[in-house]
Amino acid sequence: MDDAISHLAALTAQRDRELLDVTLAQGVLDLLGSVSVGVHRLIGREDESRRWLCCGLARKGQIAVSDPSWVDLHTLPLEADHPLRAKALASRLSEQSGPDSGQPGHLMVMPLPVEVGLPGVLEVHSDEPLSVRAQRTIQTVLKVFGNFQNLLESSQRDALTALLNRQTFDATFLKASMPVTECGADHAEGERRHSDSSGYWLGVVDIDHFKRVNDGFGHLIGDEVLVLVARIMRQTFRHHDRLYRFGGEEFVILLRGGNEEDALGAFERFRLNVAQYPFPQVQNVTVSVGFTEVRHQDTPNVAFARADQAVYRAKHQGRNQVLSHEGLVRAGVLASPEAHIGDVELF
Ligand code: GH3
Ligand code: MG
Ligand code: MG
Repeated sequence: MDDAISHLAALTAQRDRELLDVTLAQGVLDLLGSVSVGVHRLIGREDESRRWLCCGLARKGQIAVSDPSWVDLHTLPLEADHPLRAKALASRLSEQSGPDSGQPGHLMVMPLPVEVGLPGVLEVHSDEPLSVRAQRTIQTVLKVFGNFQNLLESSQRDALTALLNRQTFDATFLKASMPVTECGADHAEGERRHSDSSGYWLGVVDIDHFKRVNDGFGHLIGDEVLVLVARIMRQTFRHHDRLYRFGGEEFVILLRGGNEEDALGAFERFRLNVAQYPFPQVQNVTVSVGFTEVRHQDTPNVAFARADQAVYRAKHQGRNQVLSHEGLVRAGVLASPEAHIGDVELF
């Protein structure tokens, strides 16, 4: 019982959503001493082929591991590859593999009781079937886990659009801008470690003439536009990109991977998707986007200010366009940020 309580304490000490799953897998393994414990999340929309992301896998005698959040989706197993997981999610009940499953040992799949965020399951592989007492212990841990995750998710999300809120940006940003240190990093990561590039791109999005929407159609319709733009963001960007509403009609995207051309391509795709979407009543809505590469020595405010300068230029040049800070510096429109080193950037 003491063990269970100390694992619950470890769970509720987490503020990082991804580490929460790893802590759960490690905790259940410590409690049960099973062969392996995994937490798997289903990613992708219901209307597309969804895939299983491993968010924490702990094996006896080994520490927990998980798929990196930027993993190539096509390397992940499809939803249909694991019918027992899909069944547990659909029924919201635990499922066990039968004796005819062809797998050695026993497998118990339990749905995570989460209402916000990605749906998922806990899997326990063991040599012997789990006792009723062990199952009850896991159910209790899962209930606390579910309540805590729901709380954490809702404290980190904007109430109107369900995108991440401004407060969570700084913590994620600092994690993104840190030099890569883990082993097994790919070649591009290795090169990045020795350069100033973090491999992340920060985009700032501002809806064009949004005041006209509010003035012409009312705040409720204005709010509906914000919700729809957030939905287009989710549909446009990848599962590992971070999407924020910074307040008002301003959004931020932390894009992982690729070069400037790739980032421009992703932001352009988003701009076009918004411009082509038939918004109810309002019909046409456009956005201006400014983006910049995140550098290791950046603070969240410094990187944001660079992207925001590019938004300002986009507005000035006629709106409904995407501009990069780096491109504007190359064109001589903006001064290089290096020119400001030593200037008053303290406040
Ligand atoms: P620009 O193209 O220069 O960005 O023009 P704009 O009209 O979008 O400019 P501005 O940023 O000045 O206007 C933003 C407006 O967004 C002002 C405010 O009334 C509205 N707004 C801010 N938050 C909300 C919200 O939560 N809901 C609604 N409906 N409107 C909001
Ligand atoms: Mg604005
Ligand atoms: Mg605006």
